[in-house]
Amino acid sequence: MRLIFLGPPGSGKGTQAKRLTERLGIPQLSTGDLLRAAVRDGTELGLKAKRYMDAGELVPDEVVIGLILERMQQPDCDNGFILDGFPRTKAQAEALEQALQEKGRPIDAVIDFEINPELLVERLTGRRICPNGHGEWHVKFNPPKEPGKCDVCGAELIQREDDREDRIKTRLEAYRRDTEPLREFYAQRGLLRAITADGEMGRISKQIEQAAQGA
Ligand code: AMP
Repeated sequence: MRLIFLGPPGSGKGTQAKRLTERLGIPQLSTGDLLRAAVRDGTELGLKAKRYMDAGELVPDEVVIGLILERMQQPDCDNGFILDGFPRTKAQAEALEQALQEKGRPIDAVIDFEINPELLVERLTGRRICPNGHGEWHVKFNPPKEPGKCDVCGAELIQREDDREDRIKTRLEAYRRDTEPLREFYAQRGLLRAITADGEMGRISKQIEQAAQGA
């Protein structure tokens, strides 16, 4: 099954993708995670992406498209994947559509995370991540076992540069301007499935599974 999770930053796409990857047996492909790994590794691509990411702006299409299409070649994607945070612009959506059409493996459904915008800022400002890439927590909604420490490696959790309040505003603007129009793009193709993305985590997962399976 090939799914796209579409929704604003803080709507829980990453959390739900992680939960469902095990249940559905398909990997989560997060361009944000791939880019952060490139920044951590100090690759040329990472250096190029970092200033956009820190500012809360979108990384140029050609960088992200190349990165994700390469990732999709790997054998763990043979049975499908969950795209989390990609596509974010019309050019990305068109490049993805073309690449998948060439392989005869189109997207099955686009899950549209609908959420009250007022919740997003609190979700994002309270988020803390492991500097070694072991995951993320929330100071209020999903605290780690020991305050401020990664449950996996014990490292001091950090706040993402782009989870600071002024950057959040830029990211939400980018979402509205560049990404929200994709709802229409996928609705026209009959692929858009809306879910209510606030509330209990298990209930949200269930809605996603039903929406995906009804695809
Ligand atoms: P995320 O973890 O999905 O919130 O992404 C963090 C940051 O990575 C974004 O604010 C962008 O700077 C960059 N990014 C992630 N995915 C994309 C994408 N599909 N297109 C452009 N930039 C992206």
